Amino acid sequence: CEPECRVLSIQSHVVRGYVGNKSAAFPLQVLGFEVDTINSVQFSNHTGIHDCIKDGTVGYAHWRGQVLKSDELKELYQGLRLNDITRYDYVLTGYTADKSFLEQLVGIVKDLKKQNPKVIYVCDPVLGDKWNGEGSMYVPEELLPVYRDQVVPLADIITPNQFEAELLTGRTLNTEKEALEVMEVLHAMGPHTVLITSSDFIPSCENDLLVVLGSRITCKPDGTNSKEKIRLEIPKLDAVFVGTGDLFAAMLLAWIHHHPDNFKLACEKAVSAMSHVLKRTLSCAQAQAGGGKPRVAELEIRMVQSKRDIENPKVLIQATTL
Ligand code: ADP
Ligand code: PLP
Ligand code: ZN
Repeated sequence: CEPECRVLSIQSHVVRGYVGNKSAAFPLQVLGFEVDTINSVQFSNHTGIHDCIKDGTVGYAHWRGQVLKSDELKELYQGLRLNDITRYDYVLTGYTADKSFLEQLVGIVKDLKKQNPKVIYVCDPVLGDKWNGEGSMYVPEELLPVYRDQVVPLADIITPNQFEAELLTGRTLNTEKEALEVMEVLHAMGPHTVLITSSDFIPSCENDLLVVLGSRITCKPDGTNSKEKIRLEIPKLDAVFVGTGDLFAAMLLAWIHHHPDNFKLACEKAVSAMSHVLKRTLSCAQAQAGGGKPRVAELEIRMVQSKRDIENPKVLIQATTL
């Protein structure tokens, strides 16, 4: 019997489509992980925006559903605890809109670390994003100090976007040099691995590229630290996808686990898999839209169809060591 590797993933659930746990569970399972999911919300569909047009933004016209309260999260965790089934190798968290829920989550991660000091906490500090160069938060502002002072210090791997990295460090980030400095500040806050998942500054202002920067600090057997910094350039597809941050964090967790000694390859596989999945998603959406602009439901990630690419991603995006 193969030793199992178990992930506790606390994220959103949607009935239709792919964000949160729906984005994370399938790739993790395909890549060999046992996944225990706590659904922080259960919504009919995602609440995100897939298009920005002159007179407003476009997402699903409606959504309905329930939000898990922080006491209910505590209760679910207590159930696991009472049965002594809380030994995890990884914890994965994403979008949270409520301060007391986030604080409860901090308590759970601390308790998991007490039981298994080797548990790795992968945190996507979801705070907001930039639209046409203008940053805006899509969670209540009171969550920022909790992320900065409690969540990030507990995390081992974080995946902020450019705007989130700025908020967490209180610095602006306009060049690659500044980004690398900001990543050092983020390391000093706790995490040994930092990935800035999307940034639009570099290189040479080419607007058709997304840049992902990665930085890892490894403790060598002789007690000294070694540092690794990489850059990946991703051809930008002409669509706004939803659930991509969650899918990326899950695949990154998986590939870092499978290649503990090759950070560069792990990032190349995660980013390349993203590219395969999103290309398929866009071409299927365009085919369905019959030449028009794909609608929000048509742009849902083609997850199941992408199983083979997720399992064994052909590396099409190579990282540069900085
Ligand atoms: P975040 O949610 O942290 O802002 P995104 O969801 O924008 O991050 O991006 C996560 C990853 O998804 C990116 O690093 C990239 O690999 C992929 N991705 C997202 N949008 C696009 C796009 N339009 N074209 C190509 N890749 C994309
Ligand atoms: N959870 C819910 C309910 C959402 O509606 C969204 C985005 O709209 C997300 C999570 C996160 O999506 P992404 O991975 O694109 O940041
Ligand atoms: Zn995100």
